[in-house]
Formats: sequence, C-alpha cells, structure tokens
Amino acid sequence: DVTSFAVRVAPLGGTGLVLVLAEDQTERRRVEAVRRDFVANVSHELKTPVGALSLLAETIADASDDPEAVRRFTGRMQKEAARLTSVIQDLITLSRIQGAEPMAEPADVDLAHVVEEALESVRMAADAKEIQLVASGTAGVTVLGDEGLLVTAMRNLVANAVAYSPERTRVSVTAAVTETTAEVSVADQGIGIPPQDLERIFERFYRVDAARSRATGGTGLGLAIVKHISTHHRGDVTVWSKEGSGSTFTLRLPRPQPRVRQSPGQDNYR
Ligand code: ADP
Repeated sequence: DVTSFAVRVAPLGGTGLVLVLAEDQTERRRVEAVRRDFVANVSHELKTPVGALSLLAETIADASDDPEAVRRFTGRMQKEAARLTSVIQDLITLSRIQGAEPMAEPADVDLAHVVEEALESVRMAADAKEIQLVASGTAGVTVLGDEGLLVTAMRNLVANAVAYSPERTRVSVTAAVTETTAEVSVADQGIGIPPQDLERIFERFYRVDAARSRATGGTGLGLAIVKHISTHHRGDVTVWSKEGSGSTFTLRLPRPQPRVRQSPGQDNYR
C-alpha cells in the first residue's frame, strides 16, 4: 500500500519524489476500487432479474395445469424482463456518454419540446399517483445540444420527481434564461434527500434507499447519466433538497449566441 511504498523509496530519493509517487499510487488505487465496485454492481443488477426469471420459469413449468398461476407468473416474468432491459439500456447510455468530450457541434434544440417529451413519458406514472405535472417558462427557449440526450436527462429527472413523491403532489418544470445559459429546474414536493447523501447521488448505483429505488423501477444510474449528459453539453446539474419537503434539480445548458454584429463602417469583407 501507499505507506510501505513510501517507506521503501524514501532512503533512495528526495521526499518530493516519494510524495508524488505515493499520490499517484493512491489515485491509481482509488480508480481501481471504483472500477471494481462498478463491475460488482453491474453484475449484481444483472444477476438479480436473471435469477428471478429462471426461478419463475421453473415455477411455471411446475404449474402448467393451473392457468391462473401461469398467468400470474408470466406477468412477473415480464416485469423482470423489463427491469433487465432498463438496466441494460441505462448501461449503454452511460457507456456512450461518460468520458465523452464536450460536444463539438451542438444543434439548436427547442427546450419546450424536450420538456414536453419528458413529461409525456412519465404521464401515466404521474396519473396513477394523481401527481400534477406543470411546465412554465420553456416556450421559445433554445438551447445548444443533442435533443435525444437532453430528453433522456429531463426524463430521468422528472421520473425521479414522480417516483420519490407521495400522491396528490405537484412536479413543476420551470426554465429561466440568462444571456448565455438556460436553467431548467425540476421541483417536487417529495421525500427529499438527506444532506449527507446529496453529494453522492450522482454516483453510479448510489441510492439513498436501495429497496425503495428498486420498487419504483430505478436502476441507480439515472442521475449519473444526467450528470454526464450535462458535462457533455458544457453545462452542469445541481440539487437543492430538504427532507420531507422536496427536491429541486437544476440543469444548466448553454444557449446559442447571437452573431457578433459589426459596427457600420467596419470592413465586412476581410
Ligand atoms: P434511481 O434509479 O435509484 O432513482 P438515480 O441515479 O436516478 O437512481 O437517483 C439516485 C438516488 O437519488 C435515488 O435512489 C434516490 O435515493 C435519490 N433521488 C433522486 N431523485 C430524487 C428525488 N427527486 N427525490 C428524492 N430522492 C431522489
């Protein structure tokens, strides 16, 4: 480990060198540990539904003369298969986006359209809990980016807002613009996030309450995806939350800049 490494090298060289090497070592170990954790988490998230699927298949085989049981167990198989699909889908999105360079040629994207698509995708889940979905301030706002990725990021934020809110509450999406950026916020009146977890929720597979996350179909990857999408857009994502009152996630994105207008008399053809 780092200490023994430093002790072994110390008599040979200057202290400066030892410190640098020791630091490198710590960083290398940290990266390795993160990678190992990630692989272990991925394996776990994939093995759980696969295990459930094979158990359910066995049960169905045994219950073939009971149509009601067969119907019930095939329904559960479909749920497990859907879960497997969303974990795989999120992993694919994450691997495409993490570590990607900031976008070289972002397109003009209509923010109202992005928000509408995202809200549409959670409408059924919101209706089931009588959660009201409202959007304001997005009309006419253009941001720079990739429409598909922005819909994915917004969808993850509104899906969380609905998942972690009780019935008959409100989820509101609002947008505010500055000269160079647009800030789009998703606010809920849900369970909130404890202060000690706030810093970590953007990590892959980090969940405040794993059982609750799984029960709502969460993969633990949603916010990691949002974070990587925001950096890929040269933007960022921040969170404000109060336990028991709600959370607000704010995505900041660049806006197209007007062409620099030249003053009259200046040579336009140079
Ligand atoms: P998950 O699939 O578990 O929702 P995310 O990466 O989207 O994974 O979120 C990580 C964790 O952050 C969640 O498990 C949950 O504990 C917490 N979280 C995210 N959004 C909210 C929210 N709007 N309200 C309360 N907790 C939230």
